[in-house]
Amino acid sequence: MSRRISILGATGSVGGATLDLISRAEPGAFEIVSLTAHTNVADLAELARKYRPEIVVIGDASLASDLAEALAGSGIETAAGPEALIEAAARPVDYTMAAIVGSAGLRPAAAALQAGSILALANKECLVCAGDYFMDLAKERGARILPVDSEHNAIFQAIYPGHDKYIRRVILTASGGPFRDWSVEKMSGVSREDALAHPVWSMGDKISIDSATLMNKGLEVIEACRLFGLPSAQVDVVVHRQSVIHGLVEYIDGSVLAQMGSPDMRIPIASTLAWPERMETPAEPLDLAALSRLDFEPPDETRFPALRLAREALLEGEGATSCLNAANEVAVEAFLAQKIRFLDIPDLVSDCLDVMDRQAMLPNRFSGIEDALEVDRQARIIVSDCMARIHA
Ligand code: NAD
Ligand code: MG
Repeated sequence: MSRRISILGATGSVGGATLDLISRAEPGAFEIVSLTAHTNVADLAELARKYRPEIVVIGDASLASDLAEALAGSGIETAAGPEALIEAAARPVDYTMAAIVGSAGLRPAAAALQAGSILALANKECLVCAGDYFMDLAKERGARILPVDSEHNAIFQAIYPGHDKYIRRVILTASGGPFRDWSVEKMSGVSREDALAHPVWSMGDKISIDSATLMNKGLEVIEACRLFGLPSAQVDVVVHRQSVIHGLVEYIDGSVLAQMGSPDMRIPIASTLAWPERMETPAEPLDLAALSRLDFEPPDETRFPALRLAREALLEGEGATSCLNAANEVAVEAFLAQKIRFLDIPDLVSDCLDVMDRQAMLPNRFSGIEDALEVDRQARIIVSDCMARIHA
């Protein structure tokens, strides 16, 4: 039977890897209902012609006529704007790949879950900003959230059904990013290109910068706590340069189960696409003899303060983690636009958290997704003010 699926963020790195797997699957195994993107009309139209979805949506409303023109005569429905994204995400499907980057993905991902779809979650910002809401909604709708982030997917695979109550701790591995061996002095002058050159993974720009600051690992600690219902003290991080062990689960009897594989996102994505079965992928098989050794070291929170900031925010609650995420999104965008320096990123996030905390703008718990989006809006304004002061 064919599986009906939607891909939110189809033109991105995770969206592309998902479509690559679908293009290799048996004909008819998957039927694509919707594909979405933010501004890239040309790529979205090309994907639409290849994969023949029911509907394609461009998030930027000003591009509505460009998309309609690009697909004129194709018989494929087109739509544009944030509301259209939500409506497309709410169409009944078996599986939704949530691969939009940032808090912009919250509402569409929530709409998919609300409609009862399996939610394959790459868009970790959903859990960072509104973890309780998403986990409660999944429970209420009887829908599954399957983690796509390689570390969380590894842990998910290493939890034997029913054995979550025996977990002592989970461990997320980190490649350490391009600056893992750099001094703070050396990092003060890094360029956009240096920061985008990830040593292991090929990913979208935003997560590549987050990997260089280690904010990505901070966001992932928050994601893991909310996804697996664990306190911060039971989620550890270890730097593992080879990036072949993606995550580990330590049980109360001392057993440690790890998931390994080549660093290729098609492996975790395939495990969600085929879940609860398995499917083939073209990923390079792991050659253990060629690898010969595995290295592990603790992360350095002095050189990489973003990880510490994320842990502190996690202890504060959802207001703080939403603020951390929004401030980071704005700061990363400014760094990519070459408006601020690399080391300004964690400083700005820290300043924004301080200001909002002092003004009691960070609730511990949200009553719904709107609260998360309100903190997100406020944090974007405040961090922009903090940024203006850097330039003053
Ligand atoms: P990307 O930048 O390559 O792609 C992002 C996608 O989201 C694009 O299709 C883009 O058009 C769309 N998008 C961006 N802004 C949008 C907006 N405002 N409204 C609607 N659509 C928008 O990003 P990516 O690397 O594929 O990452 C996607 C998500 O998956 C992120 O949350 C990231 O943290 C997570 N993730 C990625 C990887 C990876 O290997 N790339 C691994 C783990 C987790
Ligand atoms: Mg990851």
